[in-house]
Amino acid sequence: MDPALKILRETFAYPEFRGFQKEVIDHVEGGENALVLMPTGGGKSLCYQIPGLLRPGVTLVVSPLIALMQDQVQTLRKRGIAAACLNSFQPEGEARDIQHALRSHELKFLYLSPERLVQHPFQSTLKALYERRQVGLFAIDECHCIAEWGHDFRPEYRQLSVLADQYPEVPRIAVTATADAHTRQEIGESLKLNGARCFVSSFDRPNLHYCVTERKAVLPQVEHFLQRHAGQCGILYCPTRRMVESLAQRLRTSGWPCLHYHAGLSAEHREQAQNQFLQRSGGIMIATIAFGMGIDKPDIRFVIHLASPRSLEGYYQETGRAGRDGQVSEVLLLYHSEDRSFPHDEGTGTGNTFHHRVLQKKREGVEHFISTQRCRRQGLLDYFGERHEGHCGTCDVCDPAYQRWTGSLERLSTVLFAPSNRQGSRRSRNEK
Ligand code: ADP
Ligand code: ZN
Repeated sequence: MDPALKILRETFAYPEFRGFQKEVIDHVEGGENALVLMPTGGGKSLCYQIPGLLRPGVTLVVSPLIALMQDQVQTLRKRGIAAACLNSFQPEGEARDIQHALRSHELKFLYLSPERLVQHPFQSTLKALYERRQVGLFAIDECHCIAEWGHDFRPEYRQLSVLADQYPEVPRIAVTATADAHTRQEIGESLKLNGARCFVSSFDRPNLHYCVTERKAVLPQVEHFLQRHAGQCGILYCPTRRMVESLAQRLRTSGWPCLHYHAGLSAEHREQAQNQFLQRSGGIMIATIAFGMGIDKPDIRFVIHLASPRSLEGYYQETGRAGRDGQVSEVLLLYHSEDRSFPHDEGTGTGNTFHHRVLQKKREGVEHFISTQRCRRQGLLDYFGERHEGHCGTCDVCDPAYQRWTGSLERLSTVLFAPSNRQGSRRSRNEK
């Protein structure tokens, strides 16, 4: 049997490869570089885990988030693979043991942050391993973080360009779930992928039903939507921390099982909220976009955005957390013409003019998506450079039943918040 397929079946217990996984695996195992673009849930991890197992030595996986690293390490260990992660929250002794295991060739996978990878003491360990031909592969997860054009720019990722210079014989595979043509180019240049093969799979998520409508009065619109999804699990993205708090409180008062999360809360609160969300079957998470990276919960049935997103990349990624199990899920965007960039207070902007221009361009993409009356799926895919013939039948533009429903969503707030209803109209203004 083909060795990659054997690993897929015996170690990972999956019968067949998905999409172009096998092509990527063969390419990388053969020592070539690759850039892999696959939607969330597409199966990017196996694209570097299997070649990592097939190649001699250790695979270094660069990841932006500790939670992501821990999750992957746990999964690999469950499958009997020697994996570990290095992070700054570890007790020193533990980090020392891991480095020792690394030096003694006992690890197959080591997950770490970009800054840790390029740090001096770590680099000397790595060079020694390289000289003994014990570095098999570099995998750069969430590689759009390297691009200033990307929506999650992380300056530390820039330092990864040294990998090409220092370890020319080790293949590099960069993977991400979102990257338009511009971001793709920047990733290639920064990582010096020099003409590496780019594998792009379709970004369509047919089980996600897209719905975009005007925000008139948050609370009744949200409750109307939630009633369609009673007992189900979902995420509500708010533009500000304050709104997270107030909306969570109001929905709780009405009996909805809400959790809340934003970057201003204590680490303890965030961890607890995240764990509860992952364990419960019907929880509603009210959060800023600080929540969700690396969340792999299969049964998220809906995602609501309560303001225009900052970019379609971000929107795609946030909505992409719904329906990972392939079941129909609904994503709703409530926009208002006065929305500025979203979020207002969880931004990662570097503040320079280039960054400003980028944000402006991205905002235009979002506005175009919202305002044109064409199939939402087509509009979204078009932004990522993928052709779709439109008429998807499951978005608010293509499906008449959906249009009737969004109509009722808008009318509902008009009825509830007619000018005669003083209290209501005041509330509706506050919520915007
Ligand atoms: P991504 O990183 O692209 O979001 P993952 O690598 O986490 O996705 O994979 C998503 C899920 O799909 C995981 O549970 C993974 O084990 C599963 N998966 C990946 N490849 C296959 C396959 N060939 N057959 C079945 N399940 C797969
Ligand atoms: Zn459509």
